[in-house]
Amino acid sequence: MSLRMKPLVAAAAILVVAVVLSCSVKQHSGPLLKNSALEEAPDFQTVSKDEAEAETEADLLARAKRIHDDAVTMDSHVDITGEDYASEKVDPGIDNPELRCDLVKMKRGGLDGVFLAVYVGQRGGLDKAGYKKVHDIALKRFQAIHRLFEMHPAKCEHAVTADDVVRIAKTGKRAIAIGVENGYPVGDEIANLERFYDLGARYITLSHSRHNQICDSSGPEEPMHNGLSAFGKQVVAEMNRLGMICDASHISEKSFYDLLQVSKAPIMASHSGCSALNPHDRNLTDDQLRALKKNGGVIQIVALDSFLKKEPQAFLDALAAARAELGIPTWEEFYKLPENERKALRGKMEQYWKRRNTIKNEFAYVTVKDFVNHIDHAVKIAGIDHVGIGTDFDGGGGIPGFDNHGEALNVTVELVRRGYSEEAIKKIWGGNLLRVWREVEQVASDLNR
Ligand SMILES: [Zn+2]
Repeated sequence: MSLRMKPLVAAAAILVVAVVLSCSVKQHSGPLLKNSALEEAPDFQTVSKDEAEAETEADLLARAKRIHDDAVTMDSHVDITGEDYASEKVDPGIDNPELRCDLVKMKRGGLDGVFLAVYVGQRGGLDKAGYKKVHDIALKRFQAIHRLFEMHPAKCEHAVTADDVVRIAKTGKRAIAIGVENGYPVGDEIANLERFYDLGARYITLSHSRHNQICDSSGPEEPMHNGLSAFGKQVVAEMNRLGMICDASHISEKSFYDLLQVSKAPIMASHSGCSALNPHDRNLTDDQLRALKKNGGVIQIVALDSFLKKEPQAFLDALAAARAELGIPTWEEFYKLPENERKALRGKMEQYWKRRNTIKNEFAYVTVKDFVNHIDHAVKIAGIDHVGIGTDFDGGGGIPGFDNHGEALNVTVELVRRGYSEEAIKKIWGGNLLRVWREVEQVASDLNR
């Protein structure tokens, strides 16, 4: 999650899928051009040029659909609305216009599984009072996700192992796993990790956008611990013992390298992009991608506009104009305000968030092609076994063409168009994530022997 507001209305989602698919058909009816990044990355099978040229557009779409249906697809990072998730107010069992990820859109888009995030923001201090407050918030969010399983037992099931995901996918239900975004609610008690594990948490994003007790975040310029703290090293060791994936999205570069040194298991960046394409603090540099490959880990490419591509000035100007019209501050200023002032502005911020989505779709400066460019780059540097998909839907993610899970096929179509083989696409859509999860499970079982 990068921006904290009520999730977006993804209205008329079906129409968007149809339009995007038909647009992409029109735009790409020429011969398939091989992507240069792929030619430099010979470690996986691509479709031969002759084969690709002989294929009609309709055949290509049919092939993409078949591969997509056949793959075990899993998204490593989706947010929930908060404590009201899976209640009368927010029902994820319907095609909910307030959600980019719900059980209906997942089914329509051929998404088998997802990690839902128990996200906890960080405005309190790194002290007992701050930890207590956020720990309670985290527990309520776990409860909200557990309510989903009770509300819709015919449509979804809780996945606590990688094998669970595959088994549940075969039943036609959605596999729902849980991750925790921000290690802040772990507080200063290692025992909380096992409590979270028992509630279903299978990964923890070590920090969010501020430094916490575990490590430095990629957000602030000045370091606090210079990487992983002494307590953070204990956290990683305990996560290895329990079988929880260490998530490096949001953590600083130094924290990332410290984590690779300390962790006995492969790690994941659950929702990040590539710095080489857009030098944003939330993205990984090529050196980090190479180190991730050595570690056996995986980068899950995020579908969030400002991480994928630098915003054009005209787009920023349009957002500023919308803020001025509503009389609201920037997010940065908003989070600095006292709680009562933030509460008073909440309604307007929600209006702005919806307005921002409309403006984003009007400008469409980021598309599925940009998203897949990040996949291409990560594959080129880290290899086909180390790249996946983590949208950050309902937490800031969503781009024209891949604005909700109902549109997931568009990504596969673009991958097929660029010459990715069936095997490669299956790795990207979940195979790599499940492999990392299984290896983390194996390390835990070895450590407990
Ligand atoms: Zn995030």
